[in-house]
Amino acid sequence: MSEVRTRFAPSPTGFLHVGSLRTALFAYAFAKSQGGKFILRVEDTDCQRCIPGAAEKIYEMLKIFGIDWDEGPLVGGSYAPYIQSERVRTGVYKKYAEQLLKGGHAYYCCCPPEELEQIEERHERKRIELRDPCRNVDIQEAQARIKKGEKLAIRLRVPENETVSYHDFVLKKEISWETNCIDEVMLLKTDGFPTYHLGVVVDDALMQISHVIRGRDWLPSTPVHLLLFKYLGFPLPQIGHLTDILDPGGGKLSKRKGAVSCEEFLADGYLPEAILNFIMLVGWAPKDNRELFTLEEFIINFQKGSLQIANPVFNRKKLDWFNGIYLRKKTDEELASLLKNYVPDGANVALVNQTVPLVKDRITKLSDYRLLAGFFFEEPKIDRALFSATAGVQLIKAAEVLGKIKKWEKVEIEEGLKKLIEKEKWETGDFFMNFRVAISGSKITPPITDSIVILGQKTTLSRLQQAAKMLE
Ligand code: GLU
Repeated sequence: MSEVRTRFAPSPTGFLHVGSLRTALFAYAFAKSQGGKFILRVEDTDCQRCIPGAAEKIYEMLKIFGIDWDEGPLVGGSYAPYIQSERVRTGVYKKYAEQLLKGGHAYYCCCPPEELEQIEERHERKRIELRDPCRNVDIQEAQARIKKGEKLAIRLRVPENETVSYHDFVLKKEISWETNCIDEVMLLKTDGFPTYHLGVVVDDALMQISHVIRGRDWLPSTPVHLLLFKYLGFPLPQIGHLTDILDPGGGKLSKRKGAVSCEEFLADGYLPEAILNFIMLVGWAPKDNRELFTLEEFIINFQKGSLQIANPVFNRKKLDWFNGIYLRKKTDEELASLLKNYVPDGANVALVNQTVPLVKDRITKLSDYRLLAGFFFEEPKIDRALFSATAGVQLIKAAEVLGKIKKWEKVEIEEGLKKLIEKEKWETGDFFMNFRVAISGSKITPPITDSIVILGQKTTLSRLQQAAKMLE
């Protein structure tokens, strides 16, 4: 078998969507599991929405997730350049567009630019005017206009009454289209830049891509690509479309229901290895019920498992579960260092280190730290409604008992408080809830005696007294 070569071909339009991360991951694993190559190509030609710096962000993200490309921007390769806007300068797209013209499979579009835009818009809105009147313009006449300085775009000429089809190796079925329903898409724009269709076909062919793996969104473009591969005399790669990722609330995964970009998840304190492990199982299933995979293990298991056909649901709770698992695999030192961006400004490092063992089992993501442990660093804001009716007296007496403790250690503290609760015949739960709120401002904290050991006697007493005062 000739070498397996897959590619990830993002357009730099913004953040890296988790769906795109999955496309990259599956294309990467598909190649790596068969000793093949993974190529990164930036598709920035047909793109009014391209954002400066977005390509660099994509490189950074892929690196964070450990998805290294064998060829592409930054690393080069035999088919460089790998950024389409740079490839335009080599004249490669124009060359193939002209080859199509010569073969009668494309035609010059003589519509004035404003009209062109309207036509494209109409096509996009699916009120498709499939055949453009320009298809009947004589090629010599069009060339004469170009000689006079006019800039003409080039469109695909779609044949009538034919069928195009291919076998989708992911969806595992033959898919076909009647050519009468295929749009005569733009291939080369008046500025000499290719559209997505021409760019993707020419580059997949020249870069010897053996397997195209991409999102289901691109399925409607496939018949156009099939025609282009055929007319340009390029061998057809295997093509596979991944499932759509569904939102638990129904429909496709959407921003309205929460984060969808890798950047957002990372900023929220999800670990790259947890996001990656979660994404592995969104549309791929191992042979057994195993859930935990490193990237290396995923590659080893990839061929034994299968790409799924049914649309998977993006289960955020499951992502939380994975993140918890990976957080708890960290040593305390590693976790303390990961928490650096999540602690209050100027937080004392030694104090952070002390709190890590207390929060480790209790946080789902790094950003939870502030909520759970913020009271170690700043005075809590207390809502008096959180206290029960018995709080005032409990806090005063607790402060008295704790004030007398000579050795500020867990055993002494626990003993002192236990005796007090017994003597006063308080409900243990009620007492500790009031105590917790006075110390932290919250009903949910790390173990409270461990916490006050770290806070120290002075701060503990002052918080109890302040809360008691508030309740006077
Ligand atoms: N440039 C397209 C994108 O932004 C690539 C689609 C494909 O893989 O063919 O996702």
